[in-house]
Amino acid sequence: MRRAAPVSIAARSAVLGRHLALLSSIAITLLSSCAIALVATSCGPASTPTVVPTHVLADTPQDATRIAGALDDAAPTGRLPADLRPTHYALSLRIVPEEDRFSGEVDIDVTLASPRHVLWLHAQDMHAQTATITPEGGESIALDVERAGDDGLATLRPASDVPAGRATIHIAYDAPFDRTLKGLYRVDSAGFSYAFTQFEAISARFAFPCFDEPAFKTPFDITLTVKREHAAISNTIAVQETDAGDGMKRIRYATTLALPTYLLAFAVGPLDVVEAPAIAPNGVRTRALPFRGVAAHGRGAELAYALEKTPQLLAELETYFGTEYPYDKLDIIAVPDFASGAMENAGAITFREWLLLLNAQSAPEEQRRAFAGVMAHELAHQWFGNLVTMPWWDDIWLNEAFATWMGNRVVMRTNPEYQVSIAQLGSIEGAMSQDSLVSARRIRQPIASNHDIRNAFDGITYSKGGGVLAMFERFVGPEKFQAGIRAYLAAHRFGNATADDLLAALTTAAGSDVSTPFRTFLEQPGVPLVEASVSCVGNAATLTVKQSRYLPVGSTGDRAQRWQIPLCVRFGSGGAAREQCTLVTEPEQQIALEGSACPTWLMPNADAAGYYRFALAPADLEKLRRAGMTQLLPREKLALADSLVAAFASNTLPASDVLAALAPLANDPARSVATTPMALVNFTYDQVADAALRPRVEGYARRLYAAQYRRLGWGPRASVSEDGETKLLRESVIIFLATTGRDRAVRAEATRRALAYLGANDDAPLNDAAVSSELVDVVLSIAMEDGDAALFDRLERRLRGSTDAMIRGRMLGALGGARNPELGDRALRLALDPALRVNEVLSTVGGQMSIPERRDAVWTWIQAHYEPLSARIATTRAADLPWYMSRFCDATHAASLEAYFTPRIAALPGGPRNLAGALEAIRLCGARLDAQGPNLRTFFAAQRP
Ligand SMILES: [Zn+2]
Repeated sequence: MRRAAPVSIAARSAVLGRHLALLSSIAITLLSSCAIALVATSCGPASTPTVVPTHVLADTPQDATRIAGALDDAAPTGRLPADLRPTHYALSLRIVPEEDRFSGEVDIDVTLASPRHVLWLHAQDMHAQTATITPEGGESIALDVERAGDDGLATLRPASDVPAGRATIHIAYDAPFDRTLKGLYRVDSAGFSYAFTQFEAISARFAFPCFDEPAFKTPFDITLTVKREHAAISNTIAVQETDAGDGMKRIRYATTLALPTYLLAFAVGPLDVVEAPAIAPNGVRTRALPFRGVAAHGRGAELAYALEKTPQLLAELETYFGTEYPYDKLDIIAVPDFASGAMENAGAITFREWLLLLNAQSAPEEQRRAFAGVMAHELAHQWFGNLVTMPWWDDIWLNEAFATWMGNRVVMRTNPEYQVSIAQLGSIEGAMSQDSLVSARRIRQPIASNHDIRNAFDGITYSKGGGVLAMFERFVGPEKFQAGIRAYLAAHRFGNATADDLLAALTTAAGSDVSTPFRTFLEQPGVPLVEASVSCVGNAATLTVKQSRYLPVGSTGDRAQRWQIPLCVRFGSGGAAREQCTLVTEPEQQIALEGSACPTWLMPNADAAGYYRFALAPADLEKLRRAGMTQLLPREKLALADSLVAAFASNTLPASDVLAALAPLANDPARSVATTPMALVNFTYDQVADAALRPRVEGYARRLYAAQYRRLGWGPRASVSEDGETKLLRESVIIFLATTGRDRAVRAEATRRALAYLGANDDAPLNDAAVSSELVDVVLSIAMEDGDAALFDRLERRLRGSTDAMIRGRMLGALGGARNPELGDRALRLALDPALRVNEVLSTVGGQMSIPERRDAVWTWIQAHYEPLSARIATTRAADLPWYMSRFCDATHAASLEAYFTPRIAALPGGPRNLAGALEAIRLCGARLDAQGPNLRTFFAAQRP
């Protein structure tokens, strides 16, 4: 699954997010939580918030408790018992999206290791019409089906004991289409109804009775009965279509390879299905691969860009793995309303529309990059996760960390101009911020409940996991690492494998122990802090390193933690740069530096490849700043900036020193480096400065980027084509000058362009020529920030009149930024407006929370509308609400959130850990404010307005 960026927040946070990472709790949100949807995952489990029909197949929970009283009948609380295994499913569904319910029949072949008088499987909110089990060669035995608890477990009680051996469970049932983007759900868009699926992590149980755990991989035979005029997509190619009477047709699909339930997929409705040329054979794959794009009615033409670019990404993966794409066809499907960014269903990958429907001429740079990154990620899953699957959710990192790492690796090759290695570092640094919390998960976190399944789709799993893999790839060497990966895939193809299997394969390929050091990152939380100092006696140089857990000021965590860190340093010696690597295993360790002279400078994290922060002795830091900056790679400059800001956050370096060190970077030619000073200034403006101080912060901000703005302006001179990095730097600089700098000229120009973009006539097409596509949402937001009701009306009308996810996102982003209290309240009310797609519901809430003066009003509104809001967004997203509120920065608000959410969130999947994390982030922000606020005030009081 891919955490992704809906347009509204993505465009701004993609620019600002990484720079805020250390400083603002909301950035932790952006990088960690489904909530703010930059990284929205559909995030698995959710009990339905909709009304359960009274005829649902269920006893009361009290009955379930009573039944569970008998010891050997006790319903399993964790995984299903392993002595009953499915071996094959025949699943037939009748799907008419215009209706409220669907119906199905499933025959599950199972093997029983011993006789049973009670069975369990997963079936949630279904009405069972008939249920039987037929032992091989025996008579059918009727089954009583009862609900067991709230997580979708069902108890099957046969009328007589079922003997050991093979048997077939048959259940005919009907169930409601979900309306909150999980299970088999209905979407209404532009006057048409569709049905789509999202089963990961544990929502297949809403669509059909099943053994809904990833260890149970079986072949599936799928049959869909749909309206004759509808298209129907599943995981494999259709092999037979017959008339089913009554305006319906029946489509039978080829038997799947062994799959877990969470990777099945269906899409039904008046879809545009675009046949692309089959993907040609290559050195790895000898067959041509059927390839199609699927989109909502009328949108098929917009798939052209994705269809053109996908084959190259697939070929890169096949080359790396040395094995062909495993499935019989590839469909890429743009879904009009989708909870996460994308989902890697075997052979039928689903995406948010924004990621797949691109205009080749006018797509903003962020959208092109997001397409490539997410497509590569989902395609990588066809091997990591689909071909080889984790047996249980504690190893979901084997899917997500790998797809993150591999997806980046692929795009680095296909699109070097995207500078993915820089973006990757940004997300790793974001994960480090999250990992600094005491409440942080481990990459491989034990699963104690369904809460942990939901929480597992976070920045730790994706970005820390991907970063740790990249670190060990560099440590082992890319060729050996690749050999280990290939061996692992070959050994477990079509089956399941664990972390142990992977680490064993890497150790074998490396010829040395990878497993032990790797586990120190995998199985404990936290970011290592490496404190480094250099001493020289004559020409003999010694590097002393100490390791501990990095903790921000105010943290209650324990620093005494130890890792085995692949530490690589670069340093200047004898006029050249040298690199030296050591596995640091001790709390304190001395390393003799090679070379013939005392280093003129030393970078403690060569190429920023290590998952650790560092602190240098003052003299060494000064050497690095003076002699080393010209020697550092862009990634190393970023790591240095991150470590400086981390020192600010841990109160080991005064803010004024950090600002002084970062300021010169504002004019660095590399975008990623040039934007590093913004975060601390934004933090000051947002959390520290009062009305008297703000003009001085604004003045400082304007002067900091005046030169960049003069150079970049609002666009290239005519006929000059620009690279994407320049476009994105311009976007960052304009946002910074307009918001933190309050630059009047920039704001006026933004408003002028926004009005030109909207045009004089609200029924005419938007004027794309008025402003470059990267800046559309920026200028709209700036215009609306100070705009009046008339502008609000115009933006809202455009929102309601469009089914284009990009335009809707732009309008919602701007509406959410309204500063006027009455208009801000209107923006909040949009969250409950049925015109919003489910995945848009929290857009304006996030926007309003970004405005300091509006935060209390948002919090009051959330408390007043919690019930209808949480019903609309499903329990999974409701569980993320604390993260939305984590822009607060004081103990009083933390206490208020805690009192309100604690009783409400305990039952929501993943809720308790989200609340703990948000509260911790808010309290740490307050501690940072107490510790560094005076220094920041003094620094900015000395600046000119
Ligand atoms: Zn994924």
